[in-house]
Amino acid sequence: MSDHRIIGAYDSGLPGPVVVFTGGIHGNEPAGVIALQRVYQQLLDMQVPVRGKILFLTGNKAALREGKRYIDQDLNRLWARQSITHIRAKAASERDSEERELMELLALIEPFGEGKEDRYFFDFHTTSGEGGCFVVVSGRPENQRAASFLHVPVIYGLATSMSGTTNRYMDENGWRGIGFEAGQHADPGSADRHEAAAWLLLESCGCLSPAEIPGLEVWHERLIRAAKGLPQHLEVTYRHHVAPEDQFVMHKGFETFSPVKQGEPLACDVRGEVRSPSEGYLLMPLYQKQGEDGFFIVKRLS
Ligand SMILES: [Zn+2]
Repeated sequence: MSDHRIIGAYDSGLPGPVVVFTGGIHGNEPAGVIALQRVYQQLLDMQVPVRGKILFLTGNKAALREGKRYIDQDLNRLWARQSITHIRAKAASERDSEERELMELLALIEPFGEGKEDRYFFDFHTTSGEGGCFVVVSGRPENQRAASFLHVPVIYGLATSMSGTTNRYMDENGWRGIGFEAGQHADPGSADRHEAAAWLLLESCGCLSPAEIPGLEVWHERLIRAAKGLPQHLEVTYRHHVAPEDQFVMHKGFETFSPVKQGEPLACDVRGEVRSPSEGYLLMPLYQKQGEDGFFIVKRLS
């Protein structure tokens, strides 16, 4: 995996949308970066006539080098007007590792989208538990339309249940922000699913027509398989926040979209058993040390 901030910038000179992809905003999630390198290389090799321009970026470079979620603080919780203003006011030497990463990313993203109406921001992640292939969007119709190209379950209300996420910030600042979770961190299939998602998202925003996408059927089939017949639209109804002093430990055997019943024991912490507050599906059970979200509960939207 290369160590450059800019994986690639692609522009055929044709008018069209501005698109930014990020992978590895969490340093223990290299699959997104690997996939974006593959897609960029394929665009170059085949000289694909993309409308608009695309920027492929590496997220948390220092944390990726160490294979950790973050070095000093979670980069995916810093994207908010207030914290950005605060970080900008600091001397460069006083910024911590993630604050430096954020400043470098914004210095590339903001000028790239400047003055453009049609701006898309696609952020690629993976999860510590198994089974997590889904899209995260705000409820805006244009985002729902883009998400529908990916076939996998669409989760509403996740972005708004957390503040400072990359995706939410961009979505609130004139971009159409979409988050894509491809599966378990170390599963080689996660990079494959990211790769499929990148091509289908380029179709969704009009950069490419279906006929221009190399291997189109493969990408569709790969994500249809990942959708596993799960409900297409789900909403977050509960977030289990954890602090280090909780000593939260998820019980073994759960994965994203495991069905759970009300009162079912899911984890334990210093206070004892942690039970599901309601019936639903589990989302992103925490099976790593770093992270503030123990799990989420989602419900099918009728
Ligand atoms: Zn992540």
